[in-house]
Amino acid sequence: MKIALIAHDKKKESMIILAKRYADVLKEHDLYATGTTGRLISLSTGLNITCMKSGPLGGDQQIGSLIAEDLLDIVIFLRDPLTAQPHEPDVNALLRLCDVTKTIVATNINTAVIILNALKNNEITITKSIS
Ligand code: PGA
Repeated sequence: MKIALIAHDKKKESMIILAKRYADVLKEHDLYATGTTGRLISLSTGLNITCMKSGPLGGDQQIGSLIAEDLLDIVIFLRDPLTAQPHEPDVNALLRLCDVTKTIVATNINTAVIILNALKNNEITITKSIS
């Protein structure tokens, strides 16, 4: 599967813990990330990740364009809901595109864990035919 990993600054530590815990699962898939998130995960896990630009500099839009092309299967986007983001419109656009394309998306750690456990157990089914 093609998986995007994104974390706002205050969630990067959680993302690294998550990526370390599920490194064995993640390494079997094609990974994409916004710039800083991707570099941090790569440094701490050794996972091979295609890194876009940093989120505020267009990385969220780059990931959004992959979603619009239906090129991603899962998006894990650990958002910080308590801090204003300069690129909030890009974040909203990305999440909207997930719904437009019915892409599986987690925006908090507990949903991310459910998705990664399902991935680990081969339980992910992608249904795009139901509107
Ligand atoms: P970053 O971008 O991984 O480059 O920090 C994440 C974001 O804020 O969208």
